[in-house]
Amino acid sequence: MDTLILASGNKGKLREFSTLLESLNIQVKPQGDYDVPDADETGLTFVENALLKARQAAQYTGLPALADDSGLEVDALQGAPGIRSARFAGTHGDDAANNRLLLERLRDVPEEQRTARFVCVLAVLRHAEDPRPLICEGTWEGRILFAPQGDGGFGYDPLFCVPDLQVSAAELSPADKNRLSHRGQASRLLQSALPAWWR
Ligand code: IMP
Repeated sequence: MDTLILASGNKGKLREFSTLLESLNIQVKPQGDYDVPDADETGLTFVENALLKARQAAQYTGLPALADDSGLEVDALQGAPGIRSARFAGTHGDDAANNRLLLERLRDVPEEQRTARFVCVLAVLRHAEDPRPLICEGTWEGRILFAPQGDGGFGYDPLFCVPDLQVSAAELSPADKNRLSHRGQASRLLQSALPAWWR
């Protein structure tokens, strides 16, 4: 069985990637098991930041590594909050403050111009100097609501309207969100591309 280091300390992500890659006979281990420090996310794009995180985990462990980077891209804000999604309002992971700031920035923007998408990039490196990483990207198109709706999910979910269903991402069941979401799409791409790329 091959081992892949997950460049994240998030338990939910560890569970999801472990389940996803089990059928490929790949065991996913968190970088915390190897005392890998968090990488500085100094890139300007999702791809660069995912690669920085994966490379650091591969460097510290000597093993193949997987990292993800995700966020929300709002057209009326020229792509913001983008790679700064988790710390849009200043404090990392303050979802309520981030959502308040997003509504404030879009206060005068009419419905048809509130288009946005969630983006998820997954990067896998066979080793720290791997010149040909596997990159899988998923996007999820929607619109930013005028007020939060629903209490499931996390992050910007209560403000993200899923157009065909006319509900927010926070009103979807976890299974439905996984079927539609940027992360679900990128994960399924990873699952299908990994075996041929790895060898
Ligand atoms: P990370 O890549 O897991 O660090 O996520 C970056 C940030 O993007 C999160 O803190 C959220 O603010 C936002 N984000 C990413 N994916 C989602 C999602 O599925 N729903 C809501 N917010 C998300």
